[in-house]
Amino acid sequence: KEPTDINALADEYLRLAYHGLRAKDKSFNADLVTHFDPNLSKINVVAQDIGRVLLNLFTNAFYATNERHKREKDDFKPQVTVSTLLHDGNIEIRVKDNGTGIPDNIKDKILQPFFTTKPTGEGTGLGLSLSYEIVVKGHGGNLSVESSEGNGSEFIIALPI
Ligand code: ADP
Ligand code: MG
Repeated sequence: KEPTDINALADEYLRLAYHGLRAKDKSFNADLVTHFDPNLSKINVVAQDIGRVLLNLFTNAFYATNERHKREKDDFKPQVTVSTLLHDGNIEIRVKDNGTGIPDNIKDKILQPFFTTKPTGEGTGLGLSLSYEIVVKGHGGNLSVESSEGNGSEFIIALPI
């Protein structure tokens, strides 16, 4: 673990995820909104591991907005909002999307290894289980989600300072 600027890390991986998706699908567009608290101090993390978590959460978020865009066409504008903040002694990274949301009947399954709703080749179902391992077991943090079907989701990574 090394002292890491979480804002810089989040910004780097957000752009990486977005441009990675756009390289595959030129028609995909999303508004990226960032609210980074400029006063956060560096925290000790394995930057590469937290980067993998972010990459997965961002990719999931873009995917969910893209699915909704396919249904609702031009009436709908994909948006992913990433915020960092100090909250209850943790640095939180919040990843909010206005995508499809998560149906209630699968909410308790999404952390399970190999659980995916994506077609073969598009998802392994390992992203969130690995993210949970990294955040909770690797960093003593917490990973939580709030979602309502049809309206979007918000994943929150909390890392102790
Ligand atoms: P994968 O992305 O390979 O499917 P994940 O572990 O990252 O695996 O996610 C598991 C499942 O959780 C996804 O297939 C999807 O059903 C659901 N999910 C995760 N993030 C979101 C999101 N932002 N919006 C809607 N559903 C999501
Ligand atoms: Mg994923």
